[in-house]
Amino acid sequence: MTKAIYLDNAATTRINDNVLRAMTEAMQRDYFNPSALYTPSVEISTEIRRIRSEICAALHAPEGELYFTSGGTESNNTALFCTRKPKGGRIIVGMGEHDSVYAPANELKAQGYDVCFAPINRDGTVDVGEFEKLLNENVSLISIMHASNETGGVNDIAALVRLAKRRSPNCIFHSDGVQATGKISVNLRTIGVDLYSISAHKIHGPKGIGALFIKKGVSVKPLLFGGGQEKGMRSGTESYPSIVGLCEAVKLNIEDKFADNYSKIAKYREIFLKKLTSEISEIQIITPIENSVPNVLTVAFKDVRGEVLLHSLEKYGIYVGIGSACSSHHESRFKGLLGLDDRHRDGIVRFSFCEENDISEIDYVVDCIKRELDVLTKFKRV
Ligand code: PLP
Repeated sequence: MTKAIYLDNAATTRINDNVLRAMTEAMQRDYFNPSALYTPSVEISTEIRRIRSEICAALHAPEGELYFTSGGTESNNTALFCTRKPKGGRIIVGMGEHDSVYAPANELKAQGYDVCFAPINRDGTVDVGEFEKLLNENVSLISIMHASNETGGVNDIAALVRLAKRRSPNCIFHSDGVQATGKISVNLRTIGVDLYSISAHKIHGPKGIGALFIKKGVSVKPLLFGGGQEKGMRSGTESYPSIVGLCEAVKLNIEDKFADNYSKIAKYREIFLKKLTSEISEIQIITPIENSVPNVLTVAFKDVRGEVLLHSLEKYGIYVGIGSACSSHHESRFKGLLGLDDRHRDGIVRFSFCEENDISEIDYVVDCIKRELDVLTKFKRV
């Protein structure tokens, strides 16, 4: 088979070689339980503390604590279920949130909380006017994602936090930063959130590790109880190699290579978009290009199912995503929301790039899409 052209980096990324090397070394050499009392364990637990501060510094976090979790899903579940929430208090969650926020919000609704879903614009970002209408003094928790996994659209979290804290002074504001971290600059001090979720595998780190930042003074109970690791916030023997992997991925993507990667990926998307729109007619662009992470390009093709196109591109070794917008249980939530006409609404495809993609592959990818569309839409054209 020819070399794969992987264009689904918003789903997950290939682990970086340096990250893997650092993890392998940690696995083989530093296998001690960080909670044990002998010297190698104490050294590991000191190193975990150092890594915590290094990641906080990379995120420009204010005073607070970063807790390691098993990934974005656990961080988001902790934010939703474990923050202080008086019964009867209102919870506001964006309508376009990832399932790891949306499903807990529905569970809280089933438990009797007043859960409101903030409507989104056609580009997947929260409609600020509609969001404002939901605010009142009883709001206890708000969760709005930083960047959308469906469209790449970026919410102005700083503005939403300011608005929320003015109208709902007692609210805790959480943001799911899984798709934003490493893609746009994140400064937790200036955006002012109380809680922020990150995940390693979206930035060339390992799967199964992420973190939740909790600002000082914000009360959050543990989701998992047990041996009391992570200052009691997250029991379970720390996965030191994964923590090392997260740290290396953060160093690489947020500190060392951020600017280089950003311009390379943005350039790739610009050329890809130009080629796609010049070669393929009647395509609708869903991603708000000027207000998005640089790595995502979500489009809707006419008269074809995104899923069918996805599979037909596999034979060329081209892997793309359809996000969750096309899966059947998301129908009511997304398809209507993105404002597509009947002939485009099933044709959503999410291309997502990384710095390992090469501009020289674009012509081939677009030619393959064109060839497949010609076959797949032959009988639908009038
Ligand atoms: N939040 C967003 C926006 C995501 O895109 C994802 C993964 O697709 C998650 C949360 C879940 O993260 P994880 O896979 O680390 O549990």
